[in-house]
Amino acid sequence: MVIKTAVFVKSSQKWQDCPEPNMPEYAFIGRSNVGKSSLINAMMNHKDLAKTSQTPGKTQLINNFLVNESWSLTDLPGYGYAKVSKSLRKDFEKLITNYILNRKNLVNLFVLVDVRHTPQKIDMDFMQWLGESSVPFSIVFTKADKMKSGGADRNVEAYKTELLKTWEDLPNIYVTSAEKKTGTEEILKFISETNQF
Ligand code: GDP
Repeated sequence: MVIKTAVFVKSSQKWQDCPEPNMPEYAFIGRSNVGKSSLINAMMNHKDLAKTSQTPGKTQLINNFLVNESWSLTDLPGYGYAKVSKSLRKDFEKLITNYILNRKNLVNLFVLVDVRHTPQKIDMDFMQWLGESSVPFSIVFTKADKMKSGGADRNVEAYKTELLKTWEDLPNIYVTSAEKKTGTEEILKFISETNQF
């Protein structure tokens, strides 16, 4: 998919304030520092559409972008901040789960995972919850350029093995690097094939 236009629409504090759900929407989520902003910017061919390295603990907002005037991209706040208070973490969780469960035009959620890590409980629990809630999602491994050859594959396989312990089918899996701009075209291909209501 060629990105002709990608524009910021608005930031919202809750899903009810997001733009009218009148076009297919794709959301991106992951733990803070996973490389979400970098990946969105790489996909959109934009240097700073999504802000990189937001300070954890600040007000977390749902950011909506309009792409090619035909689909909506949502940048969700990162989950799993270690440094914020429990009550603030609960607020993030509520914001995110309410968006995911209520947003009618959400076609797919891309869950970003740093490929350097072996399966982490917080990500596995989140995916388990998505599966149980019948939310369509894909896994996007980030920062593949940081691994020596074979290392990324090993961690991806470890995730697959972990997922197959509870699920019969695997979600779509993408291995990406924002730095090298790899894997982004595959994500855009999936979006272009599914973004019709
Ligand atoms: P976010 O908090 O998930 O939005 O993460 P950012 O996009 O701000 O990235 C966090 C850090 O990881 C930054 O220092 C980025 O430069 C770095 N980073 C993100 N993506 C990549 C990547 O594909 N390769 C490498 N080597 N570094 C990356």
